[in-house]
Amino acid sequence: MTTDQPIPKFEGHLALRIAALPPETRAMLEQKVKKVASDGHMLIARSLKRWGVTHVYCLAGTPIIETFAACANVGIRPIGVRHQQAGIMMAAAQNYVSGRLTAISILSAGPGVTNAATGILVANDNCWPLVVLGGRRPLGMQGMGSFQELDGVALFQSITKWSGLVESTARIPECIDRACKTALSGRPGPVYLDLPEDILTGIATEPPPSCEYGDEPPALDMHAIETAADILLNAERPALIIGKGIRWSEPYEELSALVNDYGVPFITSPMGRGYLPDDHPLCSNAARGIVQSRADAVLLVGARLDWTFRFGAELAPDAKLIQVDIHEQEIGINVKPVVGIVGDAKQVLRQLLACLNTNKKAAPKSGRASWHALLEKQRKTKTCHLESLMNDQSTPLSPHRLMKEIGDFLPKDSVCILDSNVNMAAAQQVIPSYLPASRLTAGSNGCMGIGIPFGIGAKLSHPDRLVIAICGDAAFALNVMEMETAVRHNIPILVVVANNDGISGSMRQKQFLTATAERVTMFQAGLRYEEITKALGGYGEYVEHPHQVKPALQRAVASGRPACVNIRVDPDAPYPQD
Ligand code: ADP
Repeated sequence: MTTDQPIPKFEGHLALRIAALPPETRAMLEQKVKKVASDGHMLIARSLKRWGVTHVYCLAGTPIIETFAACANVGIRPIGVRHQQAGIMMAAAQNYVSGRLTAISILSAGPGVTNAATGILVANDNCWPLVVLGGRRPLGMQGMGSFQELDGVALFQSITKWSGLVESTARIPECIDRACKTALSGRPGPVYLDLPEDILTGIATEPPPSCEYGDEPPALDMHAIETAADILLNAERPALIIGKGIRWSEPYEELSALVNDYGVPFITSPMGRGYLPDDHPLCSNAARGIVQSRADAVLLVGARLDWTFRFGAELAPDAKLIQVDIHEQEIGINVKPVVGIVGDAKQVLRQLLACLNTNKKAAPKSGRASWHALLEKQRKTKTCHLESLMNDQSTPLSPHRLMKEIGDFLPKDSVCILDSNVNMAAAQQVIPSYLPASRLTAGSNGCMGIGIPFGIGAKLSHPDRLVIAICGDAAFALNVMEMETAVRHNIPILVVVANNDGISGSMRQKQFLTATAERVTMFQAGLRYEEITKALGGYGEYVEHPHQVKPALQRAVASGRPACVNIRVDPDAPYPQD
């Protein structure tokens, strides 16, 4: 046992009584306290602290309530959530927004573990780092039918980077180190550790801290990078696709240099918005169809050509694809690139820029001006079309009108979370994004219900920025009890319910459920969701007319409390077209 372990501080009455003890008795007591400080719970807490974890999300229960408390004792802020799924989403979003592993989640045994599955899937599908610790019944009692007995390792194997069982108290620090490192290295993702009760209550000596924080980056294929530079220099219609995977290496200057110095227009994935600002003259999301179908060279960085990009089917068949990804197995999925480069985005882009700069003068003059003009023309047409939708005066509000009102209200540095279907599509078209990791959406697996939890995680990461979650009414309801978490922990998020009375408004009901007169995928009209928030201690307002939106949002923010502004939206609004 190391001697420098902090001894829990006793205060007030207890401290006086301990000070009055004879020296030998006091020494004995201190020895005992030191021992307790080295049980499995404390070993976990100290290991997490060493990794820079600042927040732990948990719905406390056995056998991990002591682990949760130990985290609090070492200075990690404990956030008590109302559902494990939400706690996981909060931690994962906090890590994404902060760009580091600052949050983890702890689960009680059995159903507490299974409840986390959707959150873990979200972290996995978004490639976000996360460490989840699950309580488990004593190893020595396996198979005896203990209360809440479950093998969490098997459960999570298919949706984590690593799912492991901790088999001895002494190995806890090593396992936490491996978990954090695995979550962060290469393509980030979630890690799950099963922690049996007898391992948690065991006592062990703490090893010296490990300093291994990351893997050596893979050696770059310089020949591939030179070829990529050559392709980009000689392209007439080059394009860049930016995805949220760049969060973990932050190559923002390199991307700017590429776009500005070489006139490369860019489009983004849904969460790739804001890494370069939406008001950049070469931001071409409004012309994404043309960018994809007409570009003769495409540089793909930190994004997957999955369903979000229609599996790459919109790229011109003869376009030269240059794919940069840290995950070797990702290269070539759905579209075979002309050049595949395995490596960290920042390192690859730096080398690419160096090659571009060296060869700039040798390259033939290309006609990029006409490429830019074509995209600009399409952007203008799109903007014109959107203008008419955004100025719609009708009541209930159209999704585009609602998003215009919200967009006009938001400061440039807000973090904006979209948790909806029809309304999310309208918001993506209307509300701009200007900063990295400031646009979060239902993401890679379209998980509804992320709005409130992502909002809480984001707000804890950026207490000084406005964090807004725009939720559909169906999505809001999935994690609505977390408004109580926000109230109790004083996390003033702003939630807008874009209330179109059902799942995608009336669309599904009218299309699929014509055999019944009952409302099935539609809910009761005009439900007062803001009243739930008020009942939980937050601020609430109900809005029906366009001119009421901004004042209501202003009052909600000024309240300084978690707030819900419930806004009636046209249930019959169609899904916005690209
Ligand atoms: P999006 O939804 O924005 O398209 P995805 O989550 O689908 O983004 O894909 C992100 C990609 O970024 C993944 O393929 C992942 O392997 C990759 N990635 C993650 N970290 C890095 C990094 N440091 N450098 C390069 N690529 C990375």
